[in-house]
Amino acid sequence: GDVIVVEDIWRTYDMGSEQQVNALQGINLKIRHNEYVAIMGPSGSGKSTLMNIIGCLDTPSRGTYRLNGHLVSDLNDDELARIRNREIGFVFQTFNLLARASALHNVELPLIYNGTPAAERIERATAALRAVNLEGRMNHKPNELSGGQRQRVAIARALINRPSIILADEPTGNLDSKTGDEIMALFDELHARGNTIIVVTHEPDIAEFAHRIVHIRDGVIASDVASSRVRRSG
Ligand code: ADP
Ligand code: ADP
Repeated sequence: GDVIVVEDIWRTYDMGSEQQVNALQGINLKIRHNEYVAIMGPSGSGKSTLMNIIGCLDTPSRGTYRLNGHLVSDLNDDELARIRNREIGFVFQTFNLLARASALHNVELPLIYNGTPAAERIERATAALRAVNLEGRMNHKPNELSGGQRQRVAIARALINRPSIILADEPTGNLDSKTGDEIMALFDELHARGNTIIVVTHEPDIAEFAHRIVHIRDGVIASDVASSRVRRSG
C-alpha cells in the first residue's frame, strides 16, 4: 500500500512586510511501500521543503499529508517525534555526526534518546555498523574516517530504530563520484531488504540508482517517470 500520500499541498513562507514565497504550489505525490524514488529539481524549486514535510519536520500551509495512514496534521508534538523516530531514517549531505564521539556512540545516540538499555544499544549499534561494513572502525571518531565512511556511520545511525522509510537529502553531495556510487549501492541493499527509499539529488547519475524520478520545478511536479534503469529492464 501507499506509505506516503501527499494531496494538494502548499507551503507558503512569510517573509515579513507582506512578502510571501510559495515554495510548494499544489503537490500531489503517492509513494508505495518499498518504492525507490529520486527527487530532482533546480536549487530553490522546493525539494527541501517537500522533504521536510514528508519527514514530519514541517507541516504544509494547505493540503493534507498522510504517513502510513496517519493524518500528520492531527498528530501532537509527542506523536510527531515518535513517528519520526520510528518510521523515518534521515541521511544528510553533511553527515551531521557528533565530532567528539566514536562511530559506535554516534550510531547508538537515537537509542539513548528513547531509553534503550546500554547493553542492547551496543549490540544494535554494532550490528548496524556491521551492516554498513564499518565493524572495524567502531571506535574511530568522524575526523579519523573518510567521507564515505562518515556517511556509512550516518546511515547506520539512520537505521538503528529499524525505520521503514529512508529520507536522504543530497547524500552524495560531499563525496567523490566513486564513493557516491558506493553509498548508492548501500541504498540499493536497503531497498532490497524492504526499505522505502527517497533520495533528493541534483545529480542525474545518482538519480538513476532510483526506480522512479520525480522532477520538481517552481513548487510543482514537472514530471514523474520510471528511471532508465527500470525502463531498460522492461
Ligand atoms: P530546494 O531544496 O529545491 O533548493 P527549498 O525548498 O529550499 O528548495 O526552497 C524553495 C523556495 O522556498 C525558495 O524560494 C526558498 O528561497 C524558499 N524558502 C525555503 N526555506 C525558506 C524559509 N525558511 N523561509 C523563507 N523562504 C524559504
Ligand atoms: P535483530 O536481529 O535484533 O533484528 P539486526 O542484526 O537485524 O538485529 O539489526 C540490528 C540493527 O542493525 C538494527 O537496528 C537494524 O536496523 C540495523 N541493521 C540491520 N541490518 C542492516 C543493514 N543491512 N543495513 C543497515 N542497518 C542494518
